Amino acid sequence: MAPDSLTPSSGEIVVNGRRYRLPRQPTVVVCVDGSEPGYIERAVESGRAPWFGKVLTRGTSLLADCVVPSFTNPNNLSIVTGQPPSVHGICGNYFLDPDSGKEVMMNDPKFLRVETLFPSFQRAGCRIAVVTAKDKLRGLLGKGLELGAGKACSFSSEKSDKATLAENGIEKVNELVGMAVPDVYSAGLSEFVFAAGAKLMERDLPQIMYLSTTDYIQHKHAPGTPVADDFYAMMDRYLGRLDAMGCTIALTADHGMNAKFDANHQPDVIYLQDLLDDWLGKEQARVILPITDPYVVHHGALGSFAVIYLPAGTTAAAMAAKLAALPGIEAALSKEEAARRFELPADRLGDLIVVSTKHKVLGTSAARHDLSGLTEPLRSHGGISEQRVPLLCNRPLSADVGQRAWRNFDAFDLALNLVA
Ligand SMILES: [Zn+2]
Repeated sequence: MAPDSLTPSSGEIVVNGRRYRLPRQPTVVVCVDGSEPGYIERAVESGRAPWFGKVLTRGTSLLADCVVPSFTNPNNLSIVTGQPPSVHGICGNYFLDPDSGKEVMMNDPKFLRVETLFPSFQRAGCRIAVVTAKDKLRGLLGKGLELGAGKACSFSSEKSDKATLAENGIEKVNELVGMAVPDVYSAGLSEFVFAAGAKLMERDLPQIMYLSTTDYIQHKHAPGTPVADDFYAMMDRYLGRLDAMGCTIALTADHGMNAKFDANHQPDVIYLQDLLDDWLGKEQARVILPITDPYVVHHGALGSFAVIYLPAGTTAAAMAAKLAALPGIEAALSKEEAARRFELPADRLGDLIVVSTKHKVLGTSAARHDLSGLTEPLRSHGGISEQRVPLLCNRPLSADVGQRAWRNFDAFDLALNLVA
């Protein structure tokens, strides 16, 4: 089916206040988890990534800001809604649900406050494919899609063997891809995403495809290191295949990544719960780390962003000032200040938001972090220092975009509206 036979009369859709042209070619948006600027360039320099080399010189190569907290879920949801968390509501992987008073994962689609782009594209007649590495994102990304053969599919590498037509719009994924279910802590989990994307494009020709990887490699290996170059060379091969099939490909990252260890190669941590217990009494304040998810082996739940709930009678402004004065703290803000500055939903934040500096991370209590899984010196994210990410497209800009401040959640706008 030619894409124009599917095009409604206007040829565009409006979602969450933004306008998108319907795809003229199959359009693939890729979120490379933790891809700080430098990974792609170093792989190109070492001759391992010829497709990326072409994109950097002949396509569109921009730098964009991601959403703070620079975590996976808030940014993936921004990319697929085109809006910051103040609009879509997902401001962490993990939060204190004000309705239940419990610390819960923010994976449940009920927490998403607006539609993603995908249901609108589907209603306009597009076939949709959404593939993620970890299953934690699948429910949110697939929300509102009518799943089924020839319509839309949404599945993860992690649970690829469990995919069914009813739940995921696809079955026998491992057979299609020719790969078994990869280990959740492996480069293979991300490779599966690309391998599945290439196979799906060959077989089903979806008009809109979203591929989202995991940052297992980026947490352990800096740009230009052999393992990182291998990873980007792998990606280069699959993206080259999608390009050869005529796809428009836009690529960005959910967040960057920085070294977070000290001179002894130990994680450089400020343990906020321990500190607040000292200042206010044991467990008077409650520290929540929104990086927390079921997979913390590679970062020990240590990131650069924390949320604090204060006991009644404690003034947020005074406590913010006290925290901001500590070495290693980049910002300590009241809920209202943080909501304004970072475009976050105030009703899902604690009383205080704390961000650490580039090479520091924030923990709860030293005793509560299991760091035994950290086989390499810690690299992590979450802060303002990990906000800068690449925004690439395999086609050159065709629109006059002036001096625009790019966000990673402009990726669909770029791919559909602004390139040749
Ligand atoms: Zn991530």
